[in-house]
Amino acid sequence: MQKGDKKEEKLEIEEQIKRKMARIKRRIAVMSGKGGVGKSTVTALLAVHFARQGKLVGVLDADFLGPSIPKLFGIERKKPLSGIDGLEPVLTPKYAIRVMSLQFMTPEGIAVIWRGPMISKVLEDFIAHTSWGNLDYLIVDMPPGTGDAPITVLQDIPLDGVIMVATPHDLAANIVERAINMARSMNTDVIGIVENMSYYRCPECGRIARFGKSTALLAKKYGLKILASIPLEESLAHYCDAGIVEEYKTDYFEGVEF
Ligand code: ADP
Repeated sequence: MQKGDKKEEKLEIEEQIKRKMARIKRRIAVMSGKGGVGKSTVTALLAVHFARQGKLVGVLDADFLGPSIPKLFGIERKKPLSGIDGLEPVLTPKYAIRVMSLQFMTPEGIAVIWRGPMISKVLEDFIAHTSWGNLDYLIVDMPPGTGDAPITVLQDIPLDGVIMVATPHDLAANIVERAINMARSMNTDVIGIVENMSYYRCPECGRIARFGKSTALLAKKYGLKILASIPLEESLAHYCDAGIVEEYKTDYFEGVEF
């Protein structure tokens, strides 16, 4: 491909992204500095929260190296169809949340082994070529960390803000702190923090064990709200593992303004 062609292709992709994002009222990304803290779980619970309010919701699984959104909704064997305005997202069974994920395109169990620039390029194509239609909310499950892939998302999607997922451990808080600084340095608003695995309620005696204060300290330091505190709970893990997160009853975001 000639240099001029490449420039034209890039402009065309930027144009497509702009056009598609203009049809979405609110675009929120869910970030964490680190994998395994529950970023995808929080993304799914947030999507279900909005869908239960009758909103039109889409989820972009931008966590290319560990895509798990389709599994949470039990749609990992589905394939997006090609429509007139790009790939049609796969609909979730209960609330028809529109989901797009690289997992739909890759054979089961096969890892994507790409370097940063390749991930960024495919991510851009992906964002540009999905037919979201009109949405009230697009929730983006961000790639973990503060590398090339999250930077691409922050640059390419005009986000209204990001939600940080933290666990109440010093190590996790230090990494989330970097993610907060990264988002802010790219002029992206940090809406607040969701603390996952905050506490554990003993199913037998009802006693609650709390795990630490690092998220509260982090929120205070950066003047951020803690939007929700989600317990470490066996049944939540079960609903996620069984692909029926839409059936999980508790809404940790009730009454929260986004
Ligand atoms: P990430 O997207 O940050 O890598 P996931 O959302 O995929 O993390 O969560 C990792 C694992 O932890 C999953 O198996 C998920 O079901 C489980 N998990 C997440 N949050 C909770 C919770 N609050 N209670 C119990 N299990 C949880």
